[in-house]
Amino acid sequence: MSSNLTTDRPTFVTHLQCSITGERYEADTLHGLSRAGRPLLVRYDLDAVKATLSREVLAARPTDMWRWRELLPVRGTENIVSLGEIETPLIPIPKSGGGNVLVKDEGRLPTGSFKARGLVMAVAMAKELGVTRIAMPTNGNAGAALAAYCSRVGIETIVFCPEDTPEINVREIAMQGARVWRVNGLIDDCGAIVGKGAAEGRWFDFSTLKEPYRIEGKKTMGLELAAQGGWRLPDAIFYPTGGGTGLIGMWKAFDELEKLGWIGPERPRMYAVQASGCAPIVRAFEAGEEHAERWEDAHTVAAGIRVPRAVGDFLILRAVRESGGKALGVGDPAILKAVEECAKQDGLLLCPEGGATLAAYREALKTGEVDEDERVVLFNCATGLKYPMPAAPQTLDRHGAIDFDAL
Ligand SMILES: *Cc1c(COP(=O)(O)O)cnc(C)c1O
Repeated sequence: MSSNLTTDRPTFVTHLQCSITGERYEADTLHGLSRAGRPLLVRYDLDAVKATLSREVLAARPTDMWRWRELLPVRGTENIVSLGEIETPLIPIPKSGGGNVLVKDEGRLPTGSFKARGLVMAVAMAKELGVTRIAMPTNGNAGAALAAYCSRVGIETIVFCPEDTPEINVREIAMQGARVWRVNGLIDDCGAIVGKGAAEGRWFDFSTLKEPYRIEGKKTMGLELAAQGGWRLPDAIFYPTGGGTGLIGMWKAFDELEKLGWIGPERPRMYAVQASGCAPIVRAFEAGEEHAERWEDAHTVAAGIRVPRAVGDFLILRAVRESGGKALGVGDPAILKAVEECAKQDGLLLCPEGGATLAAYREALKTGEVDEDERVVLFNCATGLKYPMPAAPQTLDRHGAIDFDAL
């Protein structure tokens, strides 16, 4: 079978569109946010895609992310950068989750998190559009993926993270060739520095949703889920929500698949899961608001979802509401308990953000929000190996008497 990257395939982007006003923007030129200060969405000629591509043709291709080429923005195959973006598996967790629960394990992607999906696309587009220097605020995983892909294509990167970002993240960012700075603030404080430098023309701003193409990369999670389920989507999806790129992307993917006639109008209920120490979307959802105010004093062990303010807040809230889902908050103790039980009972080491989805699912079972017989997908967005684990301090003196009964 030939690689998805050795074949030039036609591309179908028609334009970009402001997610709040609907205003049209030209494709193939560099854009940040729309004039209204909101994310831009990539639009395709889906009728033409439909005439070119069938589910059968797609099924014959290798299963990596570039199989979806006609639904992705990169024009020139030579601009594609890749570190092996595989289709991630759906892993049952019968003991800690239950018989109908699958974990989409995104920790197996390059750089160990699903940030690779978004950044591989955004970096390919940056290359295509001639960007030479990029800056980004990050809680860790996005910075690592940015650094890796940019080093590969020779784009310079400057990354800013909160000073308490997990040590491993800061080091992997540096190791993969970015200049990384620890900042005494939260991710939106880092974002302010990036924004200031961008306004001065020092670099291109790669903050979440402030360039249009990360959503397109994250969208492939929704495309994959549909294909993996035989073009039938699960009943409910639990997604750990920070900036919300993945949730917004999947929601967009489902629409595009319906327009292609590959799925029907049914949608999973989308559950946006946040940590109760940083839950701006949950608060806005419960108050019936369209936008979410900044969450003060944000704290949680789940660093990837410690996002006090999201520019795509209204897109997350819309998708959750249209789907009949909810925004759910879970506490750190429940998150850590879920991580431990999944690891000890089912042998799958989740990241804390993934643990949050399992904790939220169990809570939703208790409250009757979901039924045990519904097909549920939880997202584990990074490998658990990137996060601090409880110590295992026992030692054994091989020269002394060994009490084998006590081992
Ligand atoms: C970034 C991140 C999230 C949140 O993803 P968004 O799509 O930005 O909401 C969740 N979990 C992990 C591990 C992350 O790195």
